[in-house]
Order: sequence, then structure tokens, then C-alpha cells
Amino acid sequence: MFRIGMGFDVHRLVEGRPLWLGGVKIEWQRGLLGHSDADVAIHALCDALLGAAALRDIGYHFPDTDPRYKGIDSRVLLRHVMALIDEQGYCLGNCDLTICAEQPKINPHIPAMQRELAACMNCDPSQVSIKATTTEKLGYTGRGEGISAYAVALLERKTSRP
Ligand code: MG
Repeated sequence: MFRIGMGFDVHRLVEGRPLWLGGVKIEWQRGLLGHSDADVAIHALCDALLGAAALRDIGYHFPDTDPRYKGIDSRVLLRHVMALIDEQGYCLGNCDLTICAEQPKINPHIPAMQRELAACMNCDPSQVSIKATTTEKLGYTGRGEGISAYAVALLERKTSRP
């Protein structure tokens, strides 16, 4: 049995913050603002995974009013989401992410992101697709005001062990 989910997230780009994307720290003059490390790609992925299992959304599980999650590494949240998925009897089939950013260039970092996310999800990097695009200088991502990310995830029912 298969279950599909989608996720979307946006964070504002500001000065004085490190830029974390897909579990990778990218050297850049600005970073994403948020209660956690604001890793917009992981947040979209978490929502896709939770959505596939009909387990609400990332804000439901990790409220931004909770001091426990202040500055938290989003990889910790992704591992927690995978534990919830596992409890429901599902495992990851594959996931596909699109990161929308005018700058910096995302492409050189994609292999590292695939490895990082696969490690969090206990899967092979070939199950994790990451794509980068711009919005041709249009809208808030085009003006460099923020970065957005979309994700879809497919879950498979774990086969019962004999
Ligand atoms: Mg977010």
C-alpha cells in the first residue's frame, strides 16, 4: 500500500543568520529566519512525510512557541518525523524536493543534501531527489526576500517480517 503527501514552506532571508538548507550549512551573507534553524527544505519534506501519513503538520508536532525547539537543528525534527512514520507501519519509498531561490546557487550543494537527508531518513541517497530553481526574479523569492521549498513523499507499507 502506498501513501503520498506534499509539503510547502517559506522562510525569510535575513542578515546575521547562518544558511541551513537540506541539512547542509551553506556559506552565504544571509540566512533563513525562524524559530528553529529555519531549514525550509527539511520543513517542506517533513510536511510531505507527515501529510502522506495523515499526521497533521510540522507546526502541530513542533510548535514555534515551544522553547524546546528554539534554534533546533531541523535534522532532529526530520528524524522524529521518520520515527512517527515508522510507528504507523510505513517506510519511505522516495521523496522529491524543489528549492526556489534566486541566490545562492543551490546546485553545487545538492549531492551533500541528498546524503544528509538520506542519513536522517535511514535510506539510500537515490531515494532523495532535490531540485533547484529560481522564479526568474519574480515575487518574493525572485527579489531574494526569502527561500521557498516544495516536497512530495511516497510512503510504502512495511512488509511484515515472518
Ligand atoms: Mg518552516
